[in-house]
Amino acid sequence: MQKTFTKIIATLGPATASKENIFTLVKAGTNLFRLNFSHGTVEDHKCNMSYIREAEEKFGFPIGVICDMQGPKLRIGTFKKDSVLLQNGSLFRLDMNSEPGDETRVNLPHKEIYQAVDKGDYLLLNDGNIRLRVLEKGLDFLNTEVVVGGTLSAHKGVNVPGVSLPISALTEKDLSNLEAALNMGADWIALSFVQRVEDILMAREKINGRAWIITKIEKPAALSDLKGIVAASDAVMVARGDLGVESPLEKLPSLQKNIVAECRLQGKPVIIATQMLESMIKNPTPTRAEVSDIATAVYDGVDCVMLSGETAVGAYPELAVSIMRKIILNTEQDELYKKLMEVIPLPNDHEIATAITSAIDPMIKVLRNPTCVAAYSMSGATTLRVARERPPVPILNMTYDQSVMRRMTLVWGVYSIQTEQVKLLTEVTPIAENAAKELGFARPGDDMILTAGIPFAEKGNTNIIHVFKVK
Ligand code: PEP
Repeated sequence: MQKTFTKIIATLGPATASKENIFTLVKAGTNLFRLNFSHGTVEDHKCNMSYIREAEEKFGFPIGVICDMQGPKLRIGTFKKDSVLLQNGSLFRLDMNSEPGDETRVNLPHKEIYQAVDKGDYLLLNDGNIRLRVLEKGLDFLNTEVVVGGTLSAHKGVNVPGVSLPISALTEKDLSNLEAALNMGADWIALSFVQRVEDILMAREKINGRAWIITKIEKPAALSDLKGIVAASDAVMVARGDLGVESPLEKLPSLQKNIVAECRLQGKPVIIATQMLESMIKNPTPTRAEVSDIATAVYDGVDCVMLSGETAVGAYPELAVSIMRKIILNTEQDELYKKLMEVIPLPNDHEIATAITSAIDPMIKVLRNPTCVAAYSMSGATTLRVARERPPVPILNMTYDQSVMRRMTLVWGVYSIQTEQVKLLTEVTPIAENAAKELGFARPGDDMILTAGIPFAEKGNTNIIHVFKVK
């Protein structure tokens, strides 16, 4: 199967939670799976994890797993009836009373919200479809006016755009899910509703190196320290679902582009998520706008594009992955894409490692038959630096650590092979040649570039570049 630079993440759910379906999605081109802890039980996720590991065995390549924590998603309580209709201009109260609600009030069991919002602030309910303006607040209630009404049913989400809430990104439920996810061998943990760098640092302390962290950007509060948040994360997801509720929708494209630009500058992998092929939840063909949305993300040089409902609950999960793959392949073959990937913002960090990896692209231009760039990487740091340069050839990640191989499935252009631990450059070169031939990247006589950090036992120390002809 032709390898893409841009990777595909598929979310598992009722439509795909079986061994057979997982194997089918891998065959269609899925590089990583997302286990969404907002839905399903820990047992469901454990079961899917074991099928994914079986698929790795069967297909013979690493498959990454992202365990996505629900985070502090605010939700209303229940109603006496199935749903209520809120009329524009009517009054509606949110309070700490756990009794079922009606057209005049409902429970909002998050006391932090009552402290954080002010008169005049807006609350958005049910994916932003209902808009309330706060008229009066107390320690345990908010009296609001319905600005945009609609039908409201139990447990719908509440967003408070522009208000930084004094709540942690990991709730009690998340802490218990996090332990379960780490115990089942998650490669990546996705943190929802991150507002500040401290949220990531707190999670990092708990995770303690057992997985890498994806920060989901969905709160405008996170955008006010985007640089710091990207620096503190191992990867970033543009979570357009909630971000599109919390920020004006018309701002979403510029927010997406700016988040991607910051991640690419800092060399952090970036994922575009939500509604990429939304219409395929019901239909076998996507809309033109969806096709264009995926291609735009690819032209922007993102690491991954993600499917949510399309593969979790949709009628055409396999087709959604294969259509996404076709769009990626076609876009990556365009000469304009190749030109766009040549434009790399150079970080002003004066690092030896940056000097080494930024020399790769000019070298490729000089060589007659460049095939791939190999990176011998203990921690994945060298490989990430190479990927940051978006070279026009695939990146061969060589590592002895299986968890690094799995994490690297998320990174642009990277394909991994497991090697033994080596001490000398002379040992690494033949391993790189053989791996490149095995993965179909190189043939005898081709030119190959190898980068690594010497001594090999030290992590994150990229300092050599070796160019040679494949034997
Ligand atoms: C999103 O909001 O876009 C997102 C990816 O998060 P979730 O699917 O957990 O709502």
